[in-house]
Amino acid sequence: MMSKPMPVPPPPIPLTPEQEQQLNAYADALRAGNRRSNLTAITDRDEIFVKHFWDTLAIVPHLDTLLPPHARVIDVGTGGGIPGLVLAIARPTWRMTLLDATRKKVRFVEATAHALGLSNVQVVWGRAEEVAREQEHREAYDAAVARAVASLRVLAEFCLPFVRVGGWWCAMKGPAVAEEAAEAEAAIRLLGGDAPQVVDVAVPGLDARRTLVLVRKGAPTPETYPRRAGVPHKRPLM
Ligand code: SAH
Repeated sequence: MMSKPMPVPPPPIPLTPEQEQQLNAYADALRAGNRRSNLTAITDRDEIFVKHFWDTLAIVPHLDTLLPPHARVIDVGTGGGIPGLVLAIARPTWRMTLLDATRKKVRFVEATAHALGLSNVQVVWGRAEEVAREQEHREAYDAAVARAVASLRVLAEFCLPFVRVGGWWCAMKGPAVAEEAAEAEAAIRLLGGDAPQVVDVAVPGLDARRTLVLVRKGAPTPETYPRRAGVPHKRPLM
């Protein structure tokens, strides 16, 4: 006998009818975009809501406690727009910058932001290692967020250069985070970050452990970082 699929549980934070409608339209766009080109591995509508949307909305209460109402936030390696586009929907007063190195993904995110009527989204095509050296972006953000881009050790070099001193790097991670965080500690310190804090995040409809790694930037990033494009991956900071 086939088991009945579980219905999508309610969202982790309250949504206005307009936000619900924007998420519905975004889910449609993701599915249509996926048929043309692989944007994400997840194509089932209910799964899009739980694994992309609720997964992102579950971190919003944490970000609310750390960020000012008009925060400038960058999503590093946004792919099809996760978490950046969902954050732009959930918090219209935040000014979101969505960065990705893949041109077709950037085009999709730009078209979708426009179709949803989001005026708080800027989309940037480029490598984090290069964009973080541009004056407009370097140490210009209250927070840098990322999901599923790289190990914490590598991601630190992609993200911390964007964060202003006193701001936050927030990495969405899974269950095996303690070891990864320990491994990244020296790199984080080198780049100006304080000790990482790991918090558990409850995602409605998801059994797997989800975590958020929070790093406050206590000191400026030395000018030598990030290193040339590709180097952070090839020779992660120790
Ligand atoms: N954050 C999205 C996408 C994850 S896939 C999600 O959770 O669904 C990883 C994305 O990071 C890809 O779209 C890839 O193009 C981008 N990426 C990887 N390295 C990057 C770099 N150095 N600079 C910018 N984008 C990068």
